[in-house]
Amino acid sequence: MKALKERIMQDGLCIEGGILKVDNFINHQIDGKLMMEIAKEFVKRFEGTKIDKVITVEASGIAPAIMVAHLLDVPMLFAKKKVPSTMNGILKSEVFSFTKSRSYNICISEEFLKRGERCLFIDDFLANGNAATGILDLAAQVGAEIVGMGFIIEKSFQAGGRMLRDKGIHVESLAIIESIDNCEIRLSE
Ligand code: 5GP
Repeated sequence: MKALKERIMQDGLCIEGGILKVDNFINHQIDGKLMMEIAKEFVKRFEGTKIDKVITVEASGIAPAIMVAHLLDVPMLFAKKKVPSTMNGILKSEVFSFTKSRSYNICISEEFLKRGERCLFIDDFLANGNAATGILDLAAQVGAEIVGMGFIIEKSFQAGGRMLRDKGIHVESLAIIESIDNCEIRLSE
């Protein structure tokens, strides 16, 4: 996606430890126009796949996921990072956060994820695939199916992309970063 790649080169900042900061248009301030183009591209890439629901993890996955869900005219469900006291029948999975270097639980009410539902997982970044694995675990707990995974940015120098594709999952990443060594962002063609 040309516009996304150009924006990454223009506004992306490198942080030590292989982290790319895109707070200017994805993770803090959000460029709605670019996000809608991102959502349209996801819809195109998963054309032909039957999708009942879009699923993501709060917080940064919500913006692209809601736009994709709106375009597909299906609900969007986000896994919460804190267990609300008002939630019954909770499905939980532990996820290790690459950026925060600690584990946390993600949870979904079983009211909203049912056996046989075909879900598309959308997230901002794919690094080691821990958030994606947590979502696969939640879906497996109820017998829902993850029919595809779409990431705005994949860092191919981390293991997540290979791990998910090796499982046979249809993974689409709109920009792939090969390296950010010496604070130089190298995007794959
Ligand atoms: P994973 O679970 O694939 O290891 O990491 C993906 C999650 O960690 C994403 O949901 C994202 O919030 C965060 N993340 C991983 N790498 C980066 C990065 O380079 N920059 C930002 N802003 N977030 C990242």
